[in-house]
Amino acid sequence: MKTKRKSFLQWKKGNPLSIKWKLFLFLLGFCTVLLILLWLFQVVFLNNFYKAIKINEIKSVASSIEKNIESDDISTIIENISLDTDVCIEVLSANGDVLYSSHVLKNCIIHSMSTFEKNELISRTNANKGEFLEYFDRTSVYHQNESINDQIREEIPEDDIDFKAPIPERSPQQSIVYSKSIDDKSEDGAVVVINSVISPIDATVNTLRVQLYYITGFMILFSVLLALIIAKRVSKPIEAINKSAKMLAKGNYDIRFAGGGYKEISELSDTLNYTAKELSKVELLRQELIANISHDLRTPLTLISGYAEAMRDLPNENNSENAQIIVDETQRLTTLVNDVMDISKLQSGTHTIDPLSYNLTANIDETVTRMNKLMHSDGYHIDFVYDQEISLTADETRISQAFYNLLINAINYTGSDKRITVSQTIIKNCENPSTTWVHIQVKDTGEGITAEDLPYIWERYYMVDKTHKRAVTGTGLGLSIVKSIIDMHGGRYGVSSKISEGSIFWFDLKI
Ligand code: ADP
Repeated sequence: MKTKRKSFLQWKKGNPLSIKWKLFLFLLGFCTVLLILLWLFQVVFLNNFYKAIKINEIKSVASSIEKNIESDDISTIIENISLDTDVCIEVLSANGDVLYSSHVLKNCIIHSMSTFEKNELISRTNANKGEFLEYFDRTSVYHQNESINDQIREEIPEDDIDFKAPIPERSPQQSIVYSKSIDDKSEDGAVVVINSVISPIDATVNTLRVQLYYITGFMILFSVLLALIIAKRVSKPIEAINKSAKMLAKGNYDIRFAGGGYKEISELSDTLNYTAKELSKVELLRQELIANISHDLRTPLTLISGYAEAMRDLPNENNSENAQIIVDETQRLTTLVNDVMDISKLQSGTHTIDPLSYNLTANIDETVTRMNKLMHSDGYHIDFVYDQEISLTADETRISQAFYNLLINAINYTGSDKRITVSQTIIKNCENPSTTWVHIQVKDTGEGITAEDLPYIWERYYMVDKTHKRAVTGTGLGLSIVKSIIDMHGGRYGVSSKISEGSIFWFDLKI
């Protein structure tokens, strides 16, 4: 039992049914429900429905007679209703006298009642809150109402016997007698008695049953055909997508997914086309990165080994200048390795921030002063503009690193005037005074960034100038590190840039 259950679960999980079979099962289920409803309503409950409808009809006849009982043409009205609805009607006075009568049925029960039976019926009606309903079998001589059965027994009509022969199971024709007390001109009131025949509907039920057999057969056939057609139409584009996806998995990023016919499938193929495009971009970036990093690693390594060998072999070359070149190139290597390490740590989520309260303004000022000292000899000038000192809770080392990356970029890309302006402002939220932001921006006067490149510069390894200039050292990781750090602090960041006018890089932190 256990293994059986296990294999069922495995089948459910591991080998899902094909679209064709699922569709077929769904359609079959739908047809079954439909057929059950048809059977219930058209075969099982048909008799009850028919009876209920007849009773309602008779009751509404009684009501219209009651409404018109004071009318002068009441006898014409009764006759017309009787003809229209095929019922026999009698209006009896309180003591059983016939006031109005209309006779349309061949074997009417009311018209064959004795005065005694009519009086009995009136007293029963009055005793039963003014309404009384009885059923009588017409083909059998049996009468359901025990109190008056002897008096109104009926003979089976000749033609009924003849007709009965070929249909042995024919059920007896039923007759309904409905009586209702109404108010008329007399003080004692009157009683409307209506007799209607309920025709046997067995023959109809038999016909419907045979029809339902055919309908059931047709529905099953139709379900199979429909399932096959729909499954073919739906699964064809999915199979094509699956084929293309396998090619994509093998590294063919130029593959295009064609989705046809259905909204969901064409959305799926659009998504997969987008995925393939993005994957091809990542692949391109990866190849560029490997080329760049190997270039970046090889150049300082060549320089370091070249100068070290020269200093070892040539006594004249063993000077502090050459030693400085070795130190610079080692630092370049360290920066590159650190950047790669940082970004992989930050983006893998293993790195957490360590927030502490510190003076942001003082920290930025310190970095700007240090940079100014370092770059002053090269003609660079960095201004720091602020109107008040701000303290906040953040990871000082990380925020300092983010700011440093923006500053280094500004130094690398600023224009010939070599000026950079750093500013700190406060952004107050009027609607919610509890959220105040500090806005740090770094402005340069360089070439700027084109509108096409702007959305991508925050991505890993993205470098606008793909030709690797040694003058501007870059790994394409700096802004991506800024983005990760600011995101981790729940801050905002951005850039605005104009070609030939320079760029403004900024970030906001909550105070
Ligand atoms: P990199 O180490 O190459 O500078 P970044 O991630 O810091 O990498 O920057 C990505 C790209 O954005 C750079 O290659 C550069 O083209 C562009 N960029 C960044 N800062 C500036 C700036 N201040 N002015 C112009 N371009 C910039």
